[in-house]
Amino acid sequence: MNYQVYLSKTAKQIQPSGIRKFFDLASSMKDVISLGVGEPDFITPWNIRETTIASLEEGYTSYTANAGLMELRQEISAYLERRFHASYAAEDEIIVTVGASQALDLAFRMLLNTGDEVLIVEPAFVSYASLVTMAGGTPIPISTNADNGFKVTVEQIEKGITDKTKAILLCSPNNPTGTYLNEEELTKIAQVVKKHDLIVVSDEIYAELTYDEVYSSITSIEGMYERTIVINGFSKGFAMTGWRLGFVAAPREFTQVMLKIHQFTTMCAPHMLQHGAIEALRNSADNVENMKNNYRRRRNYIVQSLNMIGLNCHTPGGAFYVFPSIKSTGLTSDEFAEQLLKQEKVAVVPGNAFGQCGEGYVRCSYATSMEQLQEAMKRMQRFVDTLV
Ligand code: PMP
Repeated sequence: MNYQVYLSKTAKQIQPSGIRKFFDLASSMKDVISLGVGEPDFITPWNIRETTIASLEEGYTSYTANAGLMELRQEISAYLERRFHASYAAEDEIIVTVGASQALDLAFRMLLNTGDEVLIVEPAFVSYASLVTMAGGTPIPISTNADNGFKVTVEQIEKGITDKTKAILLCSPNNPTGTYLNEEELTKIAQVVKKHDLIVVSDEIYAELTYDEVYSSITSIEGMYERTIVINGFSKGFAMTGWRLGFVAAPREFTQVMLKIHQFTTMCAPHMLQHGAIEALRNSADNVENMKNNYRRRRNYIVQSLNMIGLNCHTPGGAFYVFPSIKSTGLTSDEFAEQLLKQEKVAVVPGNAFGQCGEGYVRCSYATSMEQLQEAMKRMQRFVDTLV
């Protein structure tokens, strides 16, 4: 049977993630230290798990409202106000989703007509371009570079704008570079966005993890609430990746359309887990702070070590990734990652998985123990020494 004839053009167009390919290779080997994963090495704090267990014991196993439990939306609304000075009504401006991933999907499906262009600041999280394509849009990469720590400039954005541009995807702190855009930088971006009448899809999934500055959200900048769709969730800051819980916050004219899509595709996020999310927002500030302090120590260590090894690396302001240059080795990103894995059993992700401008770099995640990081740095030193 020729299955190809049954597949939609869009489905065929989607490329598998460059990250998965590497994980599969690494997981087939023994004693690998993985700096490849994009998730916290911490287990979800106990109070969150305990609340969820109690919720199951009490029998909360039914659907919730499509937008999520009102109590959770109220907590999210208070959290957005408290942390980011952003006002969103719990009644109709917040939807609880199945991870930030679903929130992104809803945003693009709600916004895009065939041919609408979305600017994607690269290096970028692997899902964005495919999500835009699946929603019928056209992803337009905007390249950034290491000289200014991968911070996108107004000029770079303006170069990508055409009369088909509808939105720009910003991710701060960024995956894979860790780059954080502060209020001053966001204010400049906001000016271009307003000038060209664009919408910002702001992926703030790493907002809890900024190490040098207090987080600033673009939605809190004058005139930006109207044109911002905030994507966030519990996966990273609260160490809850497997829970698959996120949320989207936007003006009701947007959320109410997203809610129609959400209701028909997903119905609602899991009931008992939403109770855990309420607990996360109410009583986890200390846990989050502890994890963040841990990441900060590891970030400082890995940046210093990589630079000492001769792999040039800027100090990122957030998330749990560093994005060192491997250009001095004369290898491509793919060659570097593959040879490092085979020779020294350290898994990193080739930078080109995150867009063309990621070539010449690799992504290392420091969401792993200090002991593992120290061993990984020893092995990387040995590997680089064999090359020069
Ligand atoms: N955005 C970025 C930038 C990410 O790195 C990830 C997870 N790797 C997601 C969104 C998806 O997060 P979630 O687990 O909440 O779906």
